[in-house]
Amino acid sequence: MTVNLLGLDAAGLTAFFAAQGEKPFRARQVLRWLHRFGQGDFDAMTDIARSLREKLGTVARVLPPTVVADRVADDGTRKFLFDVGGGNAVESVFIPEEGRGTLCISTQAGCALDCSFCSTGKQGFNRNLTVAEIVGQLWQARHALGAYDARDVDARQQDGRVISNVVLMGMGEPLANLDNTVTALRLMLDDNAYGLSRRRVTVSTSGLVPAMDRLRDECPVALAVSLHAANDRLRDELVPINRKYPLAELLPACLRYLEKAPRDFVTFEYVMLDGVNDSDFQARELLALTRNVPCKFNLIPFNPFPGSPYRRSSVARIRRFAEILIDAGVVTTTRKTRGDDIDAACGQLAGQVVDRTQRTTGHRTFPLHLEGREVCR
Ligand code: SAH
Ligand code: SF4
Repeated sequence: MTVNLLGLDAAGLTAFFAAQGEKPFRARQVLRWLHRFGQGDFDAMTDIARSLREKLGTVARVLPPTVVADRVADDGTRKFLFDVGGGNAVESVFIPEEGRGTLCISTQAGCALDCSFCSTGKQGFNRNLTVAEIVGQLWQARHALGAYDARDVDARQQDGRVISNVVLMGMGEPLANLDNTVTALRLMLDDNAYGLSRRRVTVSTSGLVPAMDRLRDECPVALAVSLHAANDRLRDELVPINRKYPLAELLPACLRYLEKAPRDFVTFEYVMLDGVNDSDFQARELLALTRNVPCKFNLIPFNPFPGSPYRRSSVARIRRFAEILIDAGVVTTTRKTRGDDIDAACGQLAGQVVDRTQRTTGHRTFPLHLEGREVCR
């Protein structure tokens, strides 16, 4: 059995080299080759003795998920589709913006939590992604964007190739795959790997309370919480995990998280569903619910998918809802819908994708949950 080195963080690589009878500094060397320079070929790791490179060739490998589609939308949003075996595909989306680039990545194939407005939830749960599959999305996106080729960060920044922010808002619930997510996060933050600051990596959760506490203790990064309703009756319906962790548990968990969070606020995501959760009264209810939590709101216009029972709130309704929140002094943004022409918009069901050979495949893909300046800054 060979070990996929892409799935090991600094501690994992150190243990791996110790088991090979090698010095701990090898871990740092290999980490840099793999993630900082994007090198997957042991032979090219020139500061490693030939004998060790040969040994690595027999006991280890570098295996990212395979890119099966790569499409660019008119607005520059770029969507990658990865084959993760068993007929499952997951996606990442790169969103270039002035001065930054955000990559939205997946943590599970499918999702077991079955939120009523989410097409991933409707697909059911397939499996957790491995660390190599999670971090491999970043590795592959950097390769495809040419980020590993540019000589220095400034050059990359200028031509928009740099991934400055990562959001775990793709397919799946990151905190339901906590161990792998935490290891992948450690790699994202490691200066020898991707070197992202904690503030530029955001985990979005539907509210798995015990796992929020663990994330806080193990690897606090910026946090977004999918609220979507301001009372348990409605939230039970929209986000069924609320029956297990109701609002009276979720909001204190947000406060506990803030004790160690790299930012001094939580972002509450709120999908705008016409006639369901978008009234003036509900905006005020939301303010009352969250009044003790330092927070920002990110309103997400619902993205319909075939068979979904909801409609998107009107632009005027979303504006009015936002106004009520803003008038109460809470920073509120409304998410732009991006990449519409490649089904890369938030919540989009892309049940059919065209692979490289232009065959239509049966891959199941996920709704993309993008944008939101305060989430991605
Ligand atoms: N499972 C995590 C992260 C992935 S979902 C979570 O639920 O937070 C990322 C965001 O997209 C969540 O806020 C989710 O509620 C939202 N979302 C899901 N389906 C959507 C849809 N059809 N339209 C708009 N937003 C959607
Ligand atoms: Fe899962 Fe998030 Fe979709 Fe809910 S919204 S089903 S938690 S991916």
